Amino acid sequence: MKRAGSFVTVAAAVIFCLSFLCSVSFLAIHAHHHCTDEHCSVCAVLVQCNRRLRSAAAAGSAALLLLFCSMAAAFLTSAETREASCETLVSLKVEMLN
Ligand SMILES: [Zn+2]
Repeated sequence: MKRAGSFVTVAAAVIFCLSFLCSVSFLAIHAHHHCTDEHCSVCAVLVQCNRRLRSAAAAGSAALLLLFCSMAAAFLTSAETREASCETLVSLKVEMLN
């Protein structure tokens, strides 16, 4: 079951990368497209490629933001754990003289 899940994950990543690469290459090939028709199929595909790349960029930004937030939460949690473990009288080196 775990092996099938990893296969699906790898297949989804490969398909995502291929669609990203195809979109970029199509945009590069048709960068100087001069449209002559009102219902141009090249322009329609260019719009779809542009939308795909924008959504991929938004997803990447969201993933980076999520990664940053999780790292900040982990850092703050570890800092609280360190502070809580240092609050004993022995660790603070308090001497009882009376
Ligand atoms: Zn066109």
